[in-house]
Parts: sequence; structure tokens; C-alpha cells
Amino acid sequence: MTDCIFCKIAAGEIPADVVGSTDEFIAFNDISPAAPVHRLVIPRRHIVSFDEIEQLGVGTSGRLLAFIAATARAAGVAESGYRVITNVGPDSGQEVKHLHWHILGGRRLKGLG
Ligand code: AMP
Ligand code: ZN
Repeated sequence: MTDCIFCKIAAGEIPADVVGSTDEFIAFNDISPAAPVHRLVIPRRHIVSFDEIEQLGVGTSGRLLAFIAATARAAGVAESGYRVITNVGPDSGQEVKHLHWHILGGRRLKGLG
């Protein structure tokens, strides 16, 4: 999608602090971290949000979950713990309309919502 900032990161058209990459997914550090570890994981393919997850198919969706876990382990927070979030739509405050998962860790996180 031409006007999507995460598609541009996936295409290498704008810089990002990329920490992991496959032919299907990319992990990079959030530009405005909310915790000492704040990584984002996106599929290279543009889908708007988790509400469209079926479009990825079961194979890619399963590999996506494994990639998120591997990204958290690579960040060194698997033992201390972390949180995985994906925002969907207005009430969640989703700003970027390209499916992404936040991985937050490195400090004691507060309650949800
Ligand atoms: P959300 O509110 O779930 O849509 O979160 C979007 C996230 O993307 C925010 O945490 C932003 O700080 C982050 N973000 C926006 N632009 C960039 C960028 N160019 N590189 C890295 N992270 C970004
Ligand atoms: Zn996109």
C-alpha cells in the first residue's frame, strides 16, 4: 500500500531500527518506546489490523506467532516477562493501519486498559 508507513519500512523505503527479518515478517524497535524493550512485529504484506487476520492464512499466522516469540527471546525478556499487544480500531487507539504487534518488556508493566 503506497501511503502506509509500515509498508515503506518493509520495502526499505524509510529507515527503521530493524532487529529481525524474514521473507514474511519484520521486527523493529518502536520509534517512541513505552518500555525499555519496545519492539514491533509486522507482516510484510499489508493488512489493516488483527481483524483481518484470516487474510494471512493459518500457515503465515502460525509462523507470525512464532516470530513474535523469537523476537521477544532475542530481546532478552523471555525470562523476565513481557506483554504482546495488537491494537484494533478506534477504541484501542490504533494509529498505524498496518497490522503490528507490540512487544513490551524490560520493566514491571502496569495493568491493562
Ligand atoms: P498503534 O497505536 O498500535 O498503531 O502503534 C503504532 C506504533 O508505531 C507507535 O508505538 C509508534 O511509536 C510506532 N511508530 C510509528 N512510526 C514509526 C516508525 N517510523 N518507526 C518505528 N515505530 C513507529
Ligand atoms: Zn502497510
